Amino acid sequence: MKLYLYNSLTRKKQQFEPIKSGAVGLYTCGPTVYNYAHIGNLRTYIFEDILKRVLIYNGYAVKHVMNITDVGHLTGDRDMGEDKMEAGAAREGKSAWDIAEYYTRSFKQDLEQLNVLAPDVWVKATDTIPEQIALIRTLEEKGYTYPTSDGIYFDTSKFKDYTKLSHQDLEALREGARVERNPEKRNATDFALWKFSPQGSKRQMEWDSPWGVGFPGWHLECSAMSMKFLGEQLDIHCGGTDHIDVHHTNEIAQSEAATGKSFFNFWMHGAFLIIQGGKKMAKSEGNFLTLENALMKNDINPLVYRFASFLTHYRKPMEYSDESIEAARNGLLHLQNQVRQITTAGVEAQSSVSAEFQNKFNETINDDLNMPRAMAVIQEMLKSKLSDARKYSTVMDFDRVLGLQLDQLAHDQALPEAVQKLVAARLQARQDKDFATSDQLRAEIEALGYQVQDTPDGMNVVKK
Ligand code: AMP
Ligand code: ZN
Repeated sequence: MKLYLYNSLTRKKQQFEPIKSGAVGLYTCGPTVYNYAHIGNLRTYIFEDILKRVLIYNGYAVKHVMNITDVGHLTGDRDMGEDKMEAGAAREGKSAWDIAEYYTRSFKQDLEQLNVLAPDVWVKATDTIPEQIALIRTLEEKGYTYPTSDGIYFDTSKFKDYTKLSHQDLEALREGARVERNPEKRNATDFALWKFSPQGSKRQMEWDSPWGVGFPGWHLECSAMSMKFLGEQLDIHCGGTDHIDVHHTNEIAQSEAATGKSFFNFWMHGAFLIIQGGKKMAKSEGNFLTLENALMKNDINPLVYRFASFLTHYRKPMEYSDESIEAARNGLLHLQNQVRQITTAGVEAQSSVSAEFQNKFNETINDDLNMPRAMAVIQEMLKSKLSDARKYSTVMDFDRVLGLQLDQLAHDQALPEAVQKLVAARLQARQDKDFATSDQLRAEIEALGYQVQDTPDGMNVVKK
C-alpha cells in the first residue's frame, strides 16, 4: 500500500519511497541533556515513534539513529550565549559529564515508560568529535569556512539554497538576525562550526583541533552522525518544528556543501505541545512539566500521555490541560476495557486479522500518520459484527503501531478475589441506586490499588 508523508522540504504530502528498496534510514534529533525532558519534547518523540512503527508496519526494515546532544548547544539560537551543558552543570554544582549521564538515563527511562522503541544507534556528540572535525576540514578545503576571534564559521552566502527548507525570505531573515549579530560574522545567518574555548579559562568539555582548543557547533553533530551511521541511506530526518529555521537549515547547508549531494529526502516536523493561552511548553519559559510531574506523580499510567497524543494530528498544536489528560485517561481505560471483554482463554491463537479493517487502518496511518482517524477505525472495528476472536487478532495487529501494550491485558486481566467481590457488591449497589454504598465501595476498591470508572457499558476496573 502506498505511504504518503508530509515533507517540510516540498510542503506537500508526498508518496514515500526509500532510496534503497525495502529499507529506511531514519534520523531523529535527540535531546540536549542538561535537564529533564518535558512532555512537549516527549510529544515529538512519540510522533517519531509512530512514524517508525508505521514504516515497520508497511514492511520496511528501519535503521534508526538518535543523537544525544551533550556539548555545544548554546542558549541563544545563533551561536550566542552559554553552552547549555556548562550552565546546567553550574546550576547543579556537578560536572557537565555527570549531568549528561544523569539526564540521558532519565530520558531513556521516559521513552521506555512511553513504550517508544529504542533507536538502533544512540550516539553522543562527544563521541564523534573526530568525525565533526573531519567535516569542518572538508568544508574548509571547499572554501565554505572563515575564522573569527571566537570560532570557525560557515559562510551561508556561499551555499545557494540556504532557505530551501525554511522557505524564508533570505533578505528579511538576514535583516532580522542582524539585531543580535556578532560583528565579525560575514552574514547574520552564518553559524559556528567550531567555537574556541574562551581565552584564559578552561571549559569542562573541550578538544584540540587544527584551529585551536574548543568545541563543535551544535548543528554539526547531526550532520556528522547521520552520515556516519546511515551513509547513503538518508531517507527521513525528523524533529520539532522549532528546528526548521536554524538547526535543520544549517544541517542541510553544511552537509550538502561538503558532499555536493542532496542530504535527506524527507524532512518531517512535529508541532508543539502548548499550554492554555497558546504558549509553547519550553524549558526556557519555565512552564514545563515532566512525565513524572504531569502523570506518574498522580498515579496516571504514562501510556495515557501516549494515547493523548494520538488524538491530535502530529502537525497540529496539541493543547495540554488537566482535562485533556483526564479525557485521554478515560479513553485508554475504555479501550482497555473493550479489549478485556473480547479476551477469553486461549484467544491469542484463535483467529486471523480482518483484512477489511486492516486495510482501512493501514490507509489512515499511511495518510501522513492520521492517528485521530485511526482511533476511529479501531472503534468501528471493535463495535462491528466480527467475532471476538477476530476482533482480538485485529486489535493486536493495530497495537504494533499504537504501542499501547494491549497484549498485556490478557495476562493481568484477572482481578484478585477481594476486588471481584467488591466489584460485584458495587454493581448491585448501583442497580439498587444506593449511591452512598456504591461510593464507599469505590473507595475500598481504590484503596486496594485499583481504579474505577463508570461507563455507559458498565464499570471498568483496572490496576492503577
Ligand atoms: P531539545 O532537548 O530542546 O533539543 O528538544 C528536543 C526535541 O523536542 C526537539 O525535536 C524539539 O523540536 C522538540 N520540542 C521542544 N519543545 C517542544 C514542544 N513544546 N512541543 C513539542 N516538541 C518540542
Ligand atoms: Zn539535530
